[in-house]
Amino acid sequence: MFDKFVFSLEVFPPKKISSIDTIYNTLDNLKDTKPDYISVTYGAGGSAADTVTCDIASTILHKYGITPLAHLTCVNYTKHEIGQILDLLEENKIENIMALRGDINPSIPPKKEFSYASELVEFIKNRGGFYISGACYPEGHVDAENIDEDIKNLKKKVDAGAGHLVSQLFFDNSYFYNFLDKVRKAGITVPIQAGVMPVINKAQIERMVTLCGASLPSKFTKMMQRFEHSPEAIREAGIAYAVDQIVDLVSQGVDGIHLYTMNNSYVAKRISESIKGIIHA
Ligand code: FAD
Repeated sequence: MFDKFVFSLEVFPPKKISSIDTIYNTLDNLKDTKPDYISVTYGAGGSAADTVTCDIASTILHKYGITPLAHLTCVNYTKHEIGQILDLLEENKIENIMALRGDINPSIPPKKEFSYASELVEFIKNRGGFYISGACYPEGHVDAENIDEDIKNLKKKVDAGAGHLVSQLFFDNSYFYNFLDKVRKAGITVPIQAGVMPVINKAQIERMVTLCGASLPSKFTKMMQRFEHSPEAIREAGIAYAVDQIVDLVSQGVDGIHLYTMNNSYVAKRISESIKGIIHA
């Protein structure tokens, strides 16, 4: 799948299991965008009974005929529990996994059998049966001392068996291009998809920046300030900004685009529609 330009979408399970139908409505709306795959995030977890990601990934495959990519975090699991989750994914014919460390949650003590994503990658690789992807950070991961250290650690993840990477979101493409330069010089040759998130309200951007520390170019902050009081204007501007980012990324020959949909199928469809003529040109 990753030997050509890839366009993919990301969805997340609803917080309350009672709202599970909302994700199926979202998928109903997204299926016509014909992504190469749809990824499903994984909660910080801590219990091997967390099957919702697998359930959604399985629906993506069996109901819509779209390739799913299931995320899996490891710090809050033992090897035995991860083994059980892998068995369940395999039973459901899910072949693609995004192997992640997961954020350290102060209220959930880590199980200490996995410390980094590279250890999960190695564990899955040794077990066999899955194609493994990993995460990367164009502006450096928040825990890393600096970007060069982070790239050294990224190389360990790729050397352990991650055959494909998806980037954290960013709003200034120059960070992604500089990152690609450094990563390629470090000998990482696997395909790297650029993660793009359309920002369609002010609360969303404040939350995102706190979580991942993405830099905001002045073009972006001016847009947010100018339109923050009009939900329709900020949505339209956010869509236009994401499309503009993607056109530039595709022009520069990136390996693929991963759209963080935030389960907003309207916005995802608008963006997919706008870029469909260029992504496979
Ligand atoms: P790692 O690759 O392990 O890196 C974490 C930190 O440890 C980095 O600072 C790295 O430099 C450092 N490090 C790595 N290896 C070593 C080593 N051997 N020695 C010393 N330092 C090391 N979170 C969720 O909870 N669920 C999701 O579904 C989810 N999906 C995501 C998808 C993408 C594309 C991205 C970019 C992030 C996602 N996250 C998700 C967030 C992610 O879990 C956090 O960013 C987490 O803090 C790091 O996970 P990682 O897999 O990148 O960790």
